[in-house]
Amino acid sequence: MKRLVVLGGGESGVGAALLGKAKGYHVFVSDKGKIKEKYINVLKHHEIEWEAEQHTESKILNADLVVKSPGIPDTVPMVKQLKAKDIQVISEIEFASRYTYATIIGITGSNGKTTTASLTHHVLKQELEVGLAGNIGDSFAKQVLEHDFPNYVLEISSFQLDNCTAFKPHIAVLLNVTPDHLDRYNYEFDNYIASKFRIAMNQTSEDYLIYDADDEVIINWLEKHPVQSTLLPFSLVKKIENGAYLENETLKITIDNNQIIMPTKDIALQGKHNIKNAMAASTVAHLLKIRKQTIRESLENFHGVEHRLEEVLKINKVNYINDSKATNVNATYYALESMSSPTVWIVGGEDKGNNYAELFPFINEKVKAIICLGVDNKKLFENFESMVDIIVETQFMSEAVKIAYKIAESGDNVLLSPACASFDLFENYEDRGRQFKDAVRNL
Ligand code: ADP
Repeated sequence: MKRLVVLGGGESGVGAALLGKAKGYHVFVSDKGKIKEKYINVLKHHEIEWEAEQHTESKILNADLVVKSPGIPDTVPMVKQLKAKDIQVISEIEFASRYTYATIIGITGSNGKTTTASLTHHVLKQELEVGLAGNIGDSFAKQVLEHDFPNYVLEISSFQLDNCTAFKPHIAVLLNVTPDHLDRYNYEFDNYIASKFRIAMNQTSEDYLIYDADDEVIINWLEKHPVQSTLLPFSLVKKIENGAYLENETLKITIDNNQIIMPTKDIALQGKHNIKNAMAASTVAHLLKIRKQTIRESLENFHGVEHRLEEVLKINKVNYINDSKATNVNATYYALESMSSPTVWIVGGEDKGNNYAELFPFINEKVKAIICLGVDNKKLFENFESMVDIIVETQFMSEAVKIAYKIAESGDNVLLSPACASFDLFENYEDRGRQFKDAVRNL
C-alpha cells in the first residue's frame, strides 16, 4: 500500500486524508500544532492514523506522497528534508484535482478571491451543478470524494499554487497582483507574481485566462512571460474586444461577438473593485453559456460575503460598514474609494510593512476622523496625524465603535477597514468583524 502523509490537520488536510484513504492509500496525518476537536473526530471515525503537536520523522520521511497544508512554508525543516529525499510534496488542490474530470474554474489574486469565487458560484449554480471550494467552506478534496460535481469554482491562494504541478483549470481568473505575503517569497515581489501565474502554467489555447488589463503588474509580466491560454482581459478604462469593459456606466462582456450588457447601477455589489469582480464572474458565466438574463439577475441579487464591505446597520442615518477582511492597504484603498460621503475610519492592527501613501488622497477628500485600533498605532499617527482633525487610539472594539458613534453625523459612514492583520487584538479577521457588528448592534 502506498503511503500518503498529510502535513497539517485542518480543513484541507483532513479532506485530503479522507480522499487519500478512499483511493487506497495508507494515510498518516501529522500536525505540529493542535488539531481541532471536530477534525480529530473525523479522523478517528475514519480510522486514519494521526498525531498533533509533533512531527514523527520516521512516520513522515517514508511517505510516497505528501500533501502539505498551504499554511506551512516550504522552508520548515520537515519539508526541506522531504524535498532532499525527492519525496513529492503537493497541495490539496493538486491532489484532489487528480481525482476529478470536472471543469475547473480557478480564481486567484491578491484581493477579491472570496468575493469573486462566491459571486461566480452564485451565477453558475442557477444553471449548472457546481461546487465551491478552495479556501471557502468544505475542502475541494472532500467535495470530490462526496459529491464529485461536474464543475468547481475554486478560490486558490498563491500558497496552494506553489505546490501544484499538473493542476490545470479550464478557466483561470487572475484578479490583481499587489505585494502581500512577501515574507513567504524571500521578500521578492517577482517570486510572488510568478506564483500567481502558476494558475495558467498548464493551460493550453483551449483554456482561458481572465485577468485585469488595468493591472500593470499583470500586463508587464504577461509581456515578458507569455502564456498559452486564450486571453480574456477585463478593464474599467479601455475598450476590450474579447473580454469585458465598462462604457457609459454599462458593463459589456463580449466573447466571439456575442455580447452581454448590464448597467452598473443594477449590480448589487458596490465599488469599482466589485465592478471588476463582477466582470470576471460574468466572463466566466458567459464562457460557460449561462443565459444572459440569468447572469444579469444573479448580479442584481448577490449582496456579497460577510466582512467584505458588509453593510451592518444604519443608526441615526449613519451607515456602519464592516470591511474587516481588508487586511492589506490595497483592499482598504478600494473600500475608501467606494465611500461616497464623509467617513469615520477605524483602522489598524498588525502592520505587514504597509505603505499608506496611496490612501492619502482619500484621507483628504473623505475621511473626517481616524480611530486607530491596534496594539501599536505609532505608524498610523505618523502617517495620518497631520491630515485629519481627529485621530484617536484604543485597544477595544466596543470603545472604537462608541467613539465613532459620537463623531459621526447624519449621512456619514463609519467604516472598519483595518488595512492590517488582526492577530494583535483578535483571533482572526472574522472575530474582529463580529466584534464590530456586535458593538454596532449594542449602540
Ligand atoms: P481574498 O479572498 O482575496 O482575501 P476577499 O473577497 O475576501 O478577497 O476581499 C478581501 C478584501 O479586499 C475586502 O476588504 C474586499 O472589500 C476587498 N476587495 C474585494 N475585491 C477586490 C478587488 N478586486 N481588488 C481589491 N480589493 C478587493
